[in-house]
Amino acid sequence: SPLPDYLTEVAEACSATKGGEPASYIPELAKVDPDRFGIALATIDGEVYAVGDAEHEFTIQSISKAFVYGLAVRDHGLEQVLAKIDVEPSGEPFDELSLDASGRPRNPMINAGAITAHTLVGEPDTAPHERVERIIRLLSDLAGRELSVDEDVWRSEVATADRNLAIAHMLRSHGILTDSAEEVVSAYSRQCAVLVTARDLALMAATLANSGVQPVTGKQVFTGAQVRHVMSVMLTCGMYDSAGDWVSSVGIPAKSGVGGGIIGALAGQAGLATFAPPLDAHGNSVRGVETFGRLSRDTGMHLMKVE
Ligand code: GLN
Repeated sequence: SPLPDYLTEVAEACSATKGGEPASYIPELAKVDPDRFGIALATIDGEVYAVGDAEHEFTIQSISKAFVYGLAVRDHGLEQVLAKIDVEPSGEPFDELSLDASGRPRNPMINAGAITAHTLVGEPDTAPHERVERIIRLLSDLAGRELSVDEDVWRSEVATADRNLAIAHMLRSHGILTDSAEEVVSAYSRQCAVLVTARDLALMAATLANSGVQPVTGKQVFTGAQVRHVMSVMLTCGMYDSAGDWVSSVGIPAKSGVGGGIIGALAGQAGLATFAPPLDAHGNSVRGVETFGRLSRDTGMHLMKVE
């Protein structure tokens, strides 16, 4: 297959892209080697092509939001989840303290919506640590291997979580959360500190692309309808306040995380993932954005196939 050669070529070309800084508001994340760079592509048949640092572990961070939203929908149905979290792009940074006119977080990809989605996992009486276990189970099912938490990154995020605590208190003051803000933010931070590789992420995205069936293990993780909801919010909100730019230039549902990862899912075809820690002002990986842009231009994977 010419694919590995092509991906190597793309990686070489995109490694010329400099700029950005690894996230430092979570101090532990600033310790990463900024030159790490990996690309992985998983087809819906379970074929995986990986180049560069695609086997290097890093924390999933906000990429988890897409999947946990899917889990909330799986546990409660879309209608109940929509009553708590809207699906409108916010045009705001991921950590904005904001609610819409109806008192809901604007979407599940910004922290306010993601923290809410996190608390919807399981039943109302599910304990915070059980929610985390359910979430790690889900992410492991999507990756097709057992994932674990980076305890240092988790501790580091909890120790510096003032902004997420402020968001949780805002949610509590509107009756959206009932658990203690500290407990919820600690549990949400564990969700964000799950270790993955670009290869794992490509398979997780390929599970979305494959209508919710993990391509290697064959496990049905989501239904087709659930995947449609997840991919829709990824398309409109996955890249935060650069979501519009992303749809124009790349044109596929995606999700980024401040650990340096980005995933993209091409329905019926493949999952893609990049890992490159330096971030732009939106919190999206600079090289990742460049790589997806190039892949989109070269392969015509943009959803708007107009010649
Ligand atoms: N854990 C991070 C936070 O809540 C995730 C943010 C991100 O990846 N954009 O701040």
